[in-house]
Amino acid sequence: CGIVGYIGHREAYPVIIKGLQRLEYRGYDSAGVALLDGDLNVYKKQGKVATLHDFAKDKPLGAKVGIGHTRWATHGAPSDHNAHPHVSNSGKLVMIHNGIIENYAAIKTELTQKGYTFKSETDSEVFVNFIEDIYQNTLVDLAEAVRLALTKVIGAYAIVILSTENPDLVIAARKGSPLVVGLGKNEFFLASDATPIIEYTNEVVYLDDQEIAIIENNNLTIKNIEDVEMKPYIQKIDMEL
Ligand code: GLU
Repeated sequence: CGIVGYIGHREAYPVIIKGLQRLEYRGYDSAGVALLDGDLNVYKKQGKVATLHDFAKDKPLGAKVGIGHTRWATHGAPSDHNAHPHVSNSGKLVMIHNGIIENYAAIKTELTQKGYTFKSETDSEVFVNFIEDIYQNTLVDLAEAVRLALTKVIGAYAIVILSTENPDLVIAARKGSPLVVGLGKNEFFLASDATPIIEYTNEVVYLDDQEIAIIENNNLTIKNIEDVEMKPYIQKIDMEL
């Protein structure tokens, strides 16, 4: 039910944990983070953000890119393995998702026939593997694979994806569920609302429905699901913590 992402010069983990704590008011049953620096490390736990932090605190946390999630279960019971982030079958893509993919069962059947396996009961794990399948079978880059997948899923989503193939890339998109991009100096933040961001920057871009944000090599590009590039509308927010 809450999303936080970071890419930049800071350690991502403290930004993410603090951000998830700021989003706790939205309600959730589990929490998780994925950190990418050479290795991809995913830590996830049923229960409070504090439980996740307790579990993660002695693990490698140095990465400067990462995503975090608090889950409000819709498909699959609250559990460690149903918690986000979810890693794709190849181990290359990792994704967090808020919302519901209504046609996930049909997509899951199709992917299962192609040999995909699933570690969770979530619609979200189907979603990340659907993106992976398009990415691996089409000669397009990851952002385009995400866009193509979005033209086929039915439902609501805010997603953030990282790829082990390119640690300088973060892709996010939304429809129905909110998502804000924060613009710092050589750093970017992503969150379900601005509260995890305002501590670091007051410049934000609220993504519109069916928009995709591509942060690559320290640049933000926004396009819509029809592949039309949009000029980011940067707002200055004035908010008290
Ligand atoms: N539908 C997804 C799940 O059940 C995401 C739920 C959420 O928005 O947190 O895991």
